[in-house]
Amino acid sequence: GAEASQGKVYQIGTDITFAPFEFQDTSGKYVGIDMDLLDAIAKEQNFQYVVKPLGFNAAVQALESKQVDGVIAGMSITDERKQKFDFSDPYFDSGVIMAVRSDNTDITGYEDLKGKKVAVKTGTEGYTFAQSIASKYGFTVVPFDDSSLMYEDVKSGNSVACFEDYPVLAYVAKTKDDLKLVGDKEKGASYGFAVGKGQNQELLEKFNAGLKDLKASGEYDRIKSKYLAENN
Ligand code: GLN
Repeated sequence: GAEASQGKVYQIGTDITFAPFEFQDTSGKYVGIDMDLLDAIAKEQNFQYVVKPLGFNAAVQALESKQVDGVIAGMSITDERKQKFDFSDPYFDSGVIMAVRSDNTDITGYEDLKGKKVAVKTGTEGYTFAQSIASKYGFTVVPFDDSSLMYEDVKSGNSVACFEDYPVLAYVAKTKDDLKLVGDKEKGASYGFAVGKGQNQELLEKFNAGLKDLKASGEYDRIKSKYLAENN
């Protein structure tokens, strides 16, 4: 009822590091598009929450086992996930792309991956996409639990490439000079805030109502442009 939901502090799972959506600033505080959106929506819709940076796959599993009330983690709204979760209205369009080490001139397309290792992140759309073309192009996928470990494997040269969401790899390529994008973006699903299927429906409604208001007021665009260049 109203009383119970008023005092409730929602537990929200997120990724460990997925800039520009969630990452720690120099003081260790979690910031980014997802974090700022959630903060603005919670203030506007008057609910309390705590963020649990569990890692992407762990956050999704925690939601499934009801250890958290919601997940915001650049989580793609896929048909498969819709069997287990209810999603908010989409708030960001994404897609998957490949990246290699900046000094790599050998890999210019998927056909150059033959016999090589490719780093991916467990439980993600990037992983699913890489897996779907692995046998066709003859490469092996090496899974990691979080994005920084995946990037390290490419930087160290163990893997020649990685696959991840376009806005995230584009941000990495722009802000650090050790990885660069190769090829075109593959179609991917948009991001949504997720709750367990049939669970926390009042939270989902508040998220959607807040998102709508932030879009109307221009606050949503302000948050996005704080973390992204205009042409993104
Ligand atoms: N958008 C991707 C997915 O949902 C990756 C999310 C992430 O790594 N945080 O699978």
